[in-house]
Amino acid sequence: MKIAIIGAGAMGSRFGYMLQQSGNDVFLVDTWKEHVNIINKNGLLIEENNKLNSIKIPIFLPEEAIEIPELIILFTKSMGLKSMLKSINKIIGKNTKVLCLLNGLGHSETISEFVDMKNIFMGVTLWTSELIGPGHVKLTGSGNLEIQNLDPTMEDTAKKICQTLNNANLNAVYSKNVVLSIWKKACINGVLNSTCTILDCNIEEFGQLKNSKKIITKIIQEFSQIANKYNIFLNIDEIIKNVEQTYDPNEAGEHFPSMHQDLIQNHRLTEIDYINGYISKKGKEFDISTPYNDLLTMLIHSKEELLIK
Ligand code: NAD
Repeated sequence: MKIAIIGAGAMGSRFGYMLQQSGNDVFLVDTWKEHVNIINKNGLLIEENNKLNSIKIPIFLPEEAIEIPELIILFTKSMGLKSMLKSINKIIGKNTKVLCLLNGLGHSETISEFVDMKNIFMGVTLWTSELIGPGHVKLTGSGNLEIQNLDPTMEDTAKKICQTLNNANLNAVYSKNVVLSIWKKACINGVLNSTCTILDCNIEEFGQLKNSKKIITKIIQEFSQIANKYNIFLNIDEIIKNVEQTYDPNEAGEHFPSMHQDLIQNHRLTEIDYINGYISKKGKEFDISTPYNDLLTMLIHSKEELLIK
């Protein structure tokens, strides 16, 4: 299958590599010139199990991409999604299927400005990956993903996309309610990413704080109130339990969430507006009070102001 990976950072490079290895005709698209130039010159350096492997894979700047693929997989950061879709609009064909695997909320509305609803597929993934530097990606651990069509008539197509992903050992399953899974993941991210970033601590350290249970409960309750407006019903106790499981150092305890890596470690903008910021924004639209998410969003933006010059 001809597949374009749009946003070839940590995750886009991983998926591009795995899909190419299983025989697909894959090309990457990214706006980061240094990354694109290095991959074109030296190949994409894949680090896996302490081994380095350089692979040849086509990569283009958005303005250079001309071929219309059968499948587009979106892997930009949330704040880059709209401008990226604008810049690759010419390669979104009438029949091109578009699969979104970004973290965060509100992406299907953005994509529907550029893509016919029947061609939009939403997903959520537990795969992880790390960008070491331009042209160099480190594959960490194992993972899985679930996907679903937005248009009810497109279930068979979603299952075919799952098959293509599974041929690349990406452990994809067809979901009966991917929107719920997206909200659950956004809620867990909304609890851990912003708090560990502001407190500059890892997940285990956060879990050991006297007030961690109170803090996470308040944040999750606000997510749940907004989700209800979309007829999505989050099980608050189950999400608290899921968050608390991550505190274990044998689970994710020793890790710093990705927002901490972006902002504190690398002074890069965060996806806050699509996680806690989305709850805060929707709270205002629905006249629901969301003070915890409002404050977290403002604190992260303030930290961005302080750290990103
Ligand atoms: P990423 O930051 O690695 O890449 C996103 C974009 O940022 C790419 O276009 C990349 O070229 C650019 N970029 C990265 N470093 C840069 C630098 N130093 N200078 C200039 N540009 C740079 O993002 P990601 O981790 O692949 O995440 C993509 C999406 O997937 C996000 O929504 C994220 O939340 C989600 N996600 C990530 C992981 C993970 O383990 N990384 C896991 C699950 C979901």
